[in-house]
Amino acid sequence: MVKLGALVKAGVVNAEGFYTLGGRLAIDFANSHERHGHEKDGLGSFEDLLNFLKSHKQLHEDEASDLHMFLFQNPERCHSVVEALVGLRGKFRNVLDQVANGWPVDPDFLHEINSRLEGFKSHLKVEPAEDGMELKTVISEQGPEKLAFPILRDIADFLASDHVEKTKSCAGDDCGLYFVNLSRNGRRRWCSMSTCGNRAKVNAYLKRQEA
Ligand SMILES: [Zn+2]
Repeated sequence: MVKLGALVKAGVVNAEGFYTLGGRLAIDFANSHERHGHEKDGLGSFEDLLNFLKSHKQLHEDEASDLHMFLFQNPERCHSVVEALVGLRGKFRNVLDQVANGWPVDPDFLHEINSRLEGFKSHLKVEPAEDGMELKTVISEQGPEKLAFPILRDIADFLASDHVEKTKSCAGDDCGLYFVNLSRNGRRRWCSMSTCGNRAKVNAYLKRQEA
């Protein structure tokens, strides 16, 4: 197995082992069942979800520790947030398979995304950022349900973008990771050259040796 540090350097995973090769949060979420160095589902627990969002810069450390406290007070409510997201992820992966095969986006999935987004009250806010100003969407929800918002928002943004037709699943055997193909020639086949691409090269080499 390739070492974590090397994969982080290559932009394949982040330091927490979650895949970052999708090209955007929505796709990294679709790939979140896999976590480098972990056998279990990458979103197997509420802590996993906090780590996923923190390591994708969608959650501040202080917010995460508040929510961690919430986990002790109301574990059921926290677990149901994770369960709902894992369910949504399965449906999203089906949608990605369908669109990769030329099908339109399932209207039931659109309906589900929209009805979940409808549950959030939000407003826009302009804020000083590192480089000038930044326009932010602030939501009023402060409970664990707020963790779903950045994911839902990026799935919605993804569906409304030209990334839909550019999304591919890795050609590697049993890989199942998705990525937005933004390569200039559009020929990218592998989730990453450090893993599946390299394996395919090695296999092709071994086959040539046998012949
Ligand atoms: Zn792959």
